[in-house]
Amino acid sequence: MRAVDIIIKKRERQELSTEEIESFVAGFTKGEIPDYQVSAWAMAVLLNGMSARETTDLTLAMAHSGEILDLSGIVDIAMDKHSSGGVGDKTTLVVLPVVVACGLPVGKMSGRGLGFSGGTLDKLESIPGYRVDLSTDEFKRQLKKDGIVLTGQSLDLAPADGKLYALRDVTGTVQSIPLIASSIMSKKIAAGAQAIVLDVKVGLGAFMENLPEARQLSSLMIDIGKLAGRKVVTLLSDMNQPLGSAVGNALEVIEAIETLQGGGPEDFREHCLHVSAHMLVLGGRAPDLPSGRKMAEAVIASGKAFEKFHLLVDAQGGDVEYLDHLDKFPKARNIEVVEAGRNGCLAQVHARLIGEAAVALGAGRAKKGDPVDHAVGFVIHHKVGDRVQRGQPLFTIHANDPQKLAEARQSLQDAFLWSEKPVPALPLFYD
Ligand code: URA
Repeated sequence: MRAVDIIIKKRERQELSTEEIESFVAGFTKGEIPDYQVSAWAMAVLLNGMSARETTDLTLAMAHSGEILDLSGIVDIAMDKHSSGGVGDKTTLVVLPVVVACGLPVGKMSGRGLGFSGGTLDKLESIPGYRVDLSTDEFKRQLKKDGIVLTGQSLDLAPADGKLYALRDVTGTVQSIPLIASSIMSKKIAAGAQAIVLDVKVGLGAFMENLPEARQLSSLMIDIGKLAGRKVVTLLSDMNQPLGSAVGNALEVIEAIETLQGGGPEDFREHCLHVSAHMLVLGGRAPDLPSGRKMAEAVIASGKAFEKFHLLVDAQGGDVEYLDHLDKFPKARNIEVVEAGRNGCLAQVHARLIGEAAVALGAGRAKKGDPVDHAVGFVIHHKVGDRVQRGQPLFTIHANDPQKLAEARQSLQDAFLWSEKPVPALPLFYD
């Protein structure tokens, strides 16, 4: 089967057979199909879509492109969570230690930034020494010993998704329901997850901009999960404005630590408590959501959740001094507070524009393999619905390059829309 024929078939809006999908995935996993053909194929899928059957075939082919992890004998129930990607989304850094502190062990494989959305691995690497490249054996050993693991996708698990993910990031092929569903579900199936909470982001700073698309992605992932015998819960959460205040790698880790210590922005804390409660219920540790939420609140208040984060960073070689001395995190050379130029109510704080501006500052990648600058990013001081007075801080820019700082200042000004009339706050969850 020639790769070019499979690309042309998708370009012509025809349905690919199971054999064609399996052959294409096997070809690019082995490196026999070059990046330019994989990119062309991904663009054809983005433009012309895939049927549910094709998407399931793609998911299973990518999941079986490497090893399938078996966590039985290590944990009672292999739990996982995944976000479909957003701006300021540092949820995993809080939720994992919280649920582990509540007695639910979790080993998770996270990703790097994708398009304008941030990635947990890039954030974690702002802690010097933190290893995100654990082998499958190291993953299992640490899960058994410490009950908590947060690493990158090891090379032997769903390697096809690893390759495709890095290409999609830099070829404008992220926003595709079949590619997102198969990317997320192939990783979860390969990592042995039996029960999964999926945080599907909806809005201006998500890959799904509206609720019907988000529901479509969500039900496709539930169907794939059922077919593979996994329990899946999906939450539809708002991503019109950034989650929390910090956007940028080190800034987000600091905000996550503050949240684990009982502080942090209200919206982010609420979001984390809700996701944690769902994980605790699905994992059989809490009888219902209100009890799960109480358990999550208690381990934050007692410091047990932060202790688990310490344990995690230590186990993966990170410098734990950073966790207790936040001023050690890399700092940008230029830090500028931009004040509101008018009085009014905030009607929009455009998450995608802010995410793109963070990538342009160096927090994300323009080309595959580009390094990221951990110090740069923004702190957004207000939320949609806030009444802001002229002269109050609106956002703070952390930049290492004065030219990029000036560009970011303009991009961020454009992200804010104002209203004279009161504007309701945005919900955290839609369903
Ligand atoms: N997260 C993933 O792992 N893959 C996507 O395509 C989007 C979000």
